[in-house]
Amino acid sequence: MIKRFVEKVQTLFTRRRRVNKARQVSAAEHGIRRDQVPRSALRVCETLQKAGHHAYIVGGAVRDLLIGVTPKDFDVATDATPEQIKSHFRRAIIIGRRFRLVHVMFGSETIEVSTFRAGANGEQAVDAHGRMLADNVFGTQANDAARRDFTINALYYDPTHETVVDFHDGVKDIKRRRLRMIGDPEARYREDPVRMLRAVRIAAKLGFEIDETTRAPISRLADLLENVPPARVFDEMLKLLTSGHSVACILRLRAEGLHHGLLPLLDVILEQPEGERFVMLALSRTDERVRAGKHIAVGFLFACLLWHEVLKRWKDLQTGGQHRIPALDAAIDEVLDRQTEKLAIQRRFVADMRDIWMMQPRFERRTGRAPVALLGHLRLRAGYDFLALRGAAEEAPAELVTWWQDFMHADEQGRVGLLSAAPSPAQGDGKRRRRRRRPKSAGQSAADTGQTASS
Ligand code: ATP
Ligand code: MG
Repeated sequence: MIKRFVEKVQTLFTRRRRVNKARQVSAAEHGIRRDQVPRSALRVCETLQKAGHHAYIVGGAVRDLLIGVTPKDFDVATDATPEQIKSHFRRAIIIGRRFRLVHVMFGSETIEVSTFRAGANGEQAVDAHGRMLADNVFGTQANDAARRDFTINALYYDPTHETVVDFHDGVKDIKRRRLRMIGDPEARYREDPVRMLRAVRIAAKLGFEIDETTRAPISRLADLLENVPPARVFDEMLKLLTSGHSVACILRLRAEGLHHGLLPLLDVILEQPEGERFVMLALSRTDERVRAGKHIAVGFLFACLLWHEVLKRWKDLQTGGQHRIPALDAAIDEVLDRQTEKLAIQRRFVADMRDIWMMQPRFERRTGRAPVALLGHLRLRAGYDFLALRGAAEEAPAELVTWWQDFMHADEQGRVGLLSAAPSPAQGDGKRRRRRRRPKSAGQSAADTGQTASS
């Protein structure tokens, strides 16, 4: 009995020691400079520390600073409760239901401050596949580090003492350029299958290798993604597509077997041979924009991803005898009906997508008042950018793209000139001929289907 008791105490003690063992990495080794941290994040840490709390910059920002990448945002973790955090700042709100955290605002900047969380301590509610349903308990800093996903995401930077606190050899993994899961990878994927997508996204973004033990279970456990609420998958896919490394991410997802019915969005991208070129071009342009710090319109991005599905349906409906524009309208309805639910695309993006698509055949009408009327369209710029992308993918005539570029920038006289020089849609060869009047239904030339170009 006494022996059992001693053993139990020993086990508890060693477990505790293992969990709490953190390495303090000095400035000389980690190389992060205080001036790389925005004043807002410094203020949050200093204010909380002065009030007697621990406070650190944490997560992706520390990882990115160590690697030399500019962080997207700065998050702070502390032992203060949400109420305590809020009480120290003039503009702060408590948000979140699943786990309450505080947004502290400085001008247009927001710093997200969260209380150390207990996370995976074996007491969480899980579903039949081991998926964690809630992680709402406060914990120690060591608990907080252990519940994070990868070692390189579990680093804490104290800007006052300029040290990095490292519980899981994250600094070493950064030097080795390795993405390694904290704890048992399979159990961690079961707790939260989205970590499989995160592994791929973060590895692709940083150009890191995924450690073999972290990588191996992914293809086997890929099916677990089906149990994740679609809105959460959508959020993660959106992060992936707007990471500035979407092409690399998509290729890695395919390599890890995370496609084929698992991620409907990925099937849209990878399982349409006709559209692959267009979609890949759209993604690489998106990557360039993100890297140049430009804004990404989500509606535009999804209009690109689903365009070939719309085209295919549009063509079928026309073959079935529907007129051109009503056929496009119907094709759009069908694709949106099918995909918005499946992909959990938010309603607010759908209007943009529809407008961008409906504008495409209108670009082909370069006679009468139609082009001038189109100039007044609210989303002309997006519609034109889409046309230009079709041009770059050789799916629309280069001449048409240039004409619109000129037309949009020309003065009134220039526009008159361009209109009279425009080829008629039936010819598309730049030669001027008189257009014969025909009933609308007959106007279905190859150029009209929107698939012209390369043919
Ligand atoms: P990014 O640079 O894309 O923002 P990030 O690592 O900061 O990458 P966030 O989604 O902002 O990603 O998450 C912040 C931190 O929260 C992560 O660094 C990680 O420590 C933790 N985290 C996020 N998602 C999970 C998860 N699913 N499981 C465990 N920890 C997570
Ligand atoms: Mg982040």
